[in-house]
Amino acid sequence: MDDLRALIRDVPDFPAPGIVFKDITPLLGNATAFARSVGLMSEGLRPMEPTCIVGIESRGFIFGALIAVELGLGFVPVRKFGKLPWRTRTLTYDLEYGSDTLEVHEDAVTAGGRVVVVDDVLATGGTAAATVDLIRGAGALVVAVSVLVELEFLGGRSRLDVPVKAVIRYE
Ligand code: AMP
Repeated sequence: MDDLRALIRDVPDFPAPGIVFKDITPLLGNATAFARSVGLMSEGLRPMEPTCIVGIESRGFIFGALIAVELGLGFVPVRKFGKLPWRTRTLTYDLEYGSDTLEVHEDAVTAGGRVVVVDDVLATGGTAAATVDLIRGAGALVVAVSVLVELEFLGGRSRLDVPVKAVIRYE
């Protein structure tokens, strides 16, 4: 994974002081690395026999959509409040300061579906955990959370009661 890791740039103090942002845009801009990332994420998910891929806005859309195509599955966007045009299921969750709301279309996830939730980076895990709850509320089973990058030192995995698949881990 060192070739992929080398294309993830640390940006200190973005978007706020004290945060080291993992900038994946150099990896996205490299055709070989981008394809390999999507391939590795997809392969790890096949044994879970998912029936649907859910991507978290916004970088989860990039990987989630390509994983869905790779696995021959449909793609469902989970978006920030007010972006989806039709009837939605909504979940509000706590952030360090304040709260945020995620939405999914009511008919996008079906009861009995086997869903994989995809994002680029797992940090504190709050966003992924909220998305898991949102999808479960629709009656579907979340079989995994899949990320390109896991920031292990933030302990996000411990907030999730589903298998977490990560291609690159920072201890
Ligand atoms: P989380 O803390 O796991 O809820 O992360 C919230 C969202 O922000 C996720 O969708 C991540 O993609 C993004 N994110 C959080 N921390 C970072 C970071 N250090 N570098 C890049 N993206 C981040």
